[in-house]
Amino acid sequence: MQHLLKDDPDVAALIKKEESRIENTLDLIAAENHSPRSIMEALGSIFNTKTIEGYPGKRFHAGCVYADEIEELAISRGKELFDAEHINVQPHSGTSANLAVYFSVLNVGDRILSMSLPHGGHLSHGHRASITSRCFDFIHYSVDRETELIDYEEVRTLAEQYRPKMIVAGASSYPRLIDYEKMAVIAKDVSAYLFADMAHIAGLVAAKVIPSPVPHCDFVTFTTYKTMMGGRGGVILCKQDYGKKIDSAVFPGCQGTSAVNVIAAKAVIFKLARAQHFVDIQKQTLSNAVLLATELAHKGYRLVSGGTENHQVLVDLAAKGFDGSAAEQTLESVGIIANRNVVPRDAEHPGAVSGIRLGTAAISARGMSGQEMPRIAHLIDSALVNSGNKEVLKQISLDAEALARKFPVYA
Ligand SMILES: *Cc1c(COP(=O)(O)O)cnc(C)c1O
Repeated sequence: MQHLLKDDPDVAALIKKEESRIENTLDLIAAENHSPRSIMEALGSIFNTKTIEGYPGKRFHAGCVYADEIEELAISRGKELFDAEHINVQPHSGTSANLAVYFSVLNVGDRILSMSLPHGGHLSHGHRASITSRCFDFIHYSVDRETELIDYEEVRTLAEQYRPKMIVAGASSYPRLIDYEKMAVIAKDVSAYLFADMAHIAGLVAAKVIPSPVPHCDFVTFTTYKTMMGGRGGVILCKQDYGKKIDSAVFPGCQGTSAVNVIAAKAVIFKLARAQHFVDIQKQTLSNAVLLATELAHKGYRLVSGGTENHQVLVDLAAKGFDGSAAEQTLESVGIIANRNVVPRDAEHPGAVSGIRLGTAAISARGMSGQEMPRIAHLIDSALVNSGNKEVLKQISLDAEALARKFPVYA
C-alpha cells in the first residue's frame, strides 16, 4: 500500500485496522466470507479503469480487447460450473441481478409470489422499503408455524388464487434446503416463471454439496461474495430462451457500465470453485454448521426449524430471555461478529428482533473445523449468559482472539 500510505495515510490506516479486525475476530456473519488473495488482486487490478458498455464483441467504447477476453472467460467458466444455458456476469450486486430478472420478462405492476421477509425473504423480494415493491405487486408465502419450513401447500394455494407471473424461491435467512422441484411443479401449473435467488448458498451449490436450482428454474441469481468467496458482485443464470432479454435488462436496462475488475474476480472464483480446496471448504462449512447447531441446542438454545442444512444457524433467543440486538452487541464486544435477525415468530410482533443469525462460511474458509465448533458455541453462550459481567467478557474476548489468531485469514 505504499502509494496509499503516501496519498492518504488516513484511509491506509483504516485499511490496516480493518485487516487486524478481521484477523483477530470470528466472522459468523452468514452473508460474509474471506476471499482468496487472488480475488483481491483481480479486484484491485488495472481492469478497474476500463469503461465497458455492452457485451464482448459489441461494445460502445474502443480498447476492449482484453476486457472482452476476461468477460468471455467468466462467461464460459460460469456456465460450465453451474451447468447453465446462459449467464450474465455484469450485475453489480444481488439486488441489481434480481431487478434485471424481474424487468426481463415482467411488466411494471405484474404480480410476483415470494417468501415473506420476516420469514426469511430478502429486501429485493418485495419489501415495502425496496423499489421492487413499488414496481411489482408482491404477495408472500411463509414458513409453517410449527416446523418453520416453507409451507409448499400455502405456496400452491396462493399461486392458484393470485396467479403470479413469477415465483421466487430463495431466502436470506432460511437454514434449510428449498425443494426447487416442488416449486417448479407449482410454477408450471399456474404458468409462472420460476426464479431462484441462491445468493447465500451459491458456493455450496457450486461445490455440489447441496442441490442446484439451475435444472428446475427459468432464472437463477446469486452474489459472489457470500459462500461463493469471489468478491462483491452479482450473477444471473437463465435458460437460453431468456438470454437476450436478460442481457438487455442488465445493460442498458438496469445498469450502465459494469466493473471489469469484478468480472475478472468472478472468472477467478469460477476457476477456483472447481478445485478440491474450494469443495473441501464448502463441505466443512456444512458440517461446521451442523456441529455449531448441535452444540447450541445442547446448551438449550432454540434453533429456527430445529437445525440446519446449509451454512446458516438461526437462533431464536426469546426463550432464553435475550434480545437479538443486545446479543449482537454483546457478541461484538468479545470479537464474535454476527447479526441480529428476525425469526418467523417475530412476524406477529412488528419491531421485534428475537434472533441471531450465525454462518459458518468465513470460519471454515480460514480453516476451522469440527474441533473449533464446541469452543465457539461455548464462547457464544458464555458471552450471552455473562453479558453484564465486564471481567468475564474480557476473558471471553481474549479466548475468541486467541482462537482467531490460530487460523490466520491471510497468512
Ligand atoms: C444477500 C442477498 C442478496 C444480495 O443483495 P446485494 O444487493 O448484493 O446486497 C440478494 N438476495 C438474497 C436472498 C440475499 O440473501
